[in-house]
Amino acid sequence: MVERGSIYDRKTGHFIYEQYQTTPLVKEALRELFHDKFDLLGTDKILTRIKNNEIQIEWIDVTKFSKLAEPLLDHTTKYYSSPANVDKAILDEVKKRLLKTKHRLICARCGKWQLAIVTGEFEKRPKKLICKYCKGRQITATYYSDYDLVKIIQKNHKSKKLSLEENHKFKRAWKVASLIETFGNNAITVLSGYGVGADTAARILRNMVDEEYMYKQIYEAERQYVMTRGFWDD
Ligand SMILES: [Zn+2]
Repeated sequence: MVERGSIYDRKTGHFIYEQYQTTPLVKEALRELFHDKFDLLGTDKILTRIKNNEIQIEWIDVTKFSKLAEPLLDHTTKYYSSPANVDKAILDEVKKRLLKTKHRLICARCGKWQLAIVTGEFEKRPKKLICKYCKGRQITATYYSDYDLVKIIQKNHKSKKLSLEENHKFKRAWKVASLIETFGNNAITVLSGYGVGADTAARILRNMVDEEYMYKQIYEAERQYVMTRGFWDD
């Protein structure tokens, strides 16, 4: 069907798979891959050892992709040929992703007013965010699917005692509110970073030189987060 030595092409590969996916041909090809070509058990062992800290991961910045990485990146390497481009291309992707990140804005005082928004929309909002219920200007942000924070803020507003964990989240919400009050749109952008909490965001925002530097700092913070724990938590 496919001649030995044929040059792999993603589209054609996909087409062939679509055409034959229900046939024994594809079944056999997959069987051959998983049983003969891929070392699944070996890979599993190595991943487990990394997870158990028996194998240390070391992050190295390089200017060229390794021989092992090249085939994986065959359709992207042409754009990433020089180190200057690596940064630019990655930062563009990071920026695009951050702009699409969803947030839940909440009044940090009363917890009644809330608004779902993506980072890119925040910029277009009127400058001063004010809660229409309590007229508070302390607006905090959390991840989109966080339904607890509203309840915690409302509980506090009714002068009910917060648990230790609730208190921690409440304090964090106020830190975030003050970042948004001071840094506006940039605060929302930085907080869009994967694993970027209030303290990391504060550091990045205070050290901000220009937009590009900010995106680099966010990317670096995400990388650190993934390296230390985020990856295994998922
Ligand atoms: Zn309010």
